[in-house]
Amino acid sequence: MDFRLSEEQELIRKNMQEFGERHVNSIAAEIDENSRHPTELFRKLGEDGWMGIPIPEQYGGAGSDFLTHIIAVEELSRFCSSTGFTLSFHAGIIGMSLLVFGNEEQKKKYLVPLAKGQHLGSFALTEPGAGTDIMAVATTAVHQGDDYVINGTKTFVSNGPIADTYIIFGWSDKTAGRKGMSAFIVPQGTPGLNPGQHFQKMGLRSSQTSEVVLRHCRVPEENLLGKEGDGLFIAMTGFDRGRIGIAAQAIGILQAALDESIKYSKERIQFGKPIARQQAIAWMIADIATDLSAARYLTYLAAWLKDNNQPFGKEAAMAKLFATEAAARHTVKAVQIHGGYGYIKGAKVERLMRDAKIAEIYEGTSEAQRMVISGNILRGGN
Ligand SMILES: Cc1cc2nc3c(=O)[nH]c(=O)nc-3n(C[C@H](O)[C@H](O)[C@H](O)COP(=O)(O)OP(=O)(O)OC[C@H]3O[C@@H](n4cnc5c(N)ncnc54)[C@H](O)[C@@H]3O)c2cc1C
Repeated sequence: MDFRLSEEQELIRKNMQEFGERHVNSIAAEIDENSRHPTELFRKLGEDGWMGIPIPEQYGGAGSDFLTHIIAVEELSRFCSSTGFTLSFHAGIIGMSLLVFGNEEQKKKYLVPLAKGQHLGSFALTEPGAGTDIMAVATTAVHQGDDYVINGTKTFVSNGPIADTYIIFGWSDKTAGRKGMSAFIVPQGTPGLNPGQHFQKMGLRSSQTSEVVLRHCRVPEENLLGKEGDGLFIAMTGFDRGRIGIAAQAIGILQAALDESIKYSKERIQFGKPIARQQAIAWMIADIATDLSAARYLTYLAAWLKDNNQPFGKEAAMAKLFATEAAARHTVKAVQIHGGYGYIKGAKVERLMRDAKIAEIYEGTSEAQRMVISGNILRGGN
């Protein structure tokens, strides 16, 4: 078994560290404070080729493997996990869904500008009455002549107010059960698609989250992604990939929490010596570092399985479950290590703690991950 990353993957890690230090570090606190989408930063991420790492070069991407994309998300999330999440969501869910399910024309029209970072993507499944229970989706997509007419309200949509390209899910045939949902590519500006309520959040504040309201939103047949009835499969496979990205976001948060805790505990003097020399503090650091390593290997394993065309849904769920719960648990410890200073606005660990919580919720809650894992095992999986 070879645990080494390839030269390209090591280079991507180093390059993203440099990118983060140059372009993200100085604005991370401000974009969090102001809940601001950093348009200029995403333009730069696109220009430098980060927005389409796992997308083939012929469609505007870098043509690298999924693990390389995951390493980029992890490193970016060390500096700003909102930005790391957006990268993961944009390329790992939306870009890859267009790559896997789109036809040639759709790839040229929608995937290329996404992979180049000229457009931003969004993926809207959740509704007020349909969270974990996605079969409760109420949005309908009625086939009328050469068009589909979509009606419904999506909620908690990342990039909802600012996306250029949306993938929207709704029932094309409610009587067909799991085969009745379809996915549609809906460009921004399509009459009948409008962002609704814009949410203010506890963390992940520079990522923009809103409702997306669809009222008699008419899209041509050519905007159907995959075949009619493929919607649930497109959503589920998107989440399988996306969960590896959320695990990577959590690893980035954990690494930042560890780095901050080591630095502070060596500098902070109480009782005449650095607090790092108190066993209570040193053991917290040991626990963060141990779970970080475990989370990283679980996440890389899931990405490696995906890159090697092996089933990876259970491992993706395990990686997300473990990494995100570790991030939520240990960012609280990182604040503890910082004492009162960690609770004050502007302390990086305070932002890390707020940002970690969402990772246990979106792209399937921890409870949903346990359903995926146990379902897989109890059905006789490995
Ligand atoms: C910031 C943010 C960004 C998001 N971005 C997107 C996006 O871009 N696109 C999108 O489609 N969605 C997005 N979501 C939605 C997100 O995926 C859902 O919030 C999540 O799936 C949970 O759904 P819910 O909030 O309705 O909670 P619910 O499903 O109502 O769950 C509430 C609680 O009950 C538990 N629960 C529910 N069912 C069960 C069960 N059967 N067994 C045990 N426990 C259960 C849950 O685990 C949770 O603890 C986003 C959400 C947020 C907050």
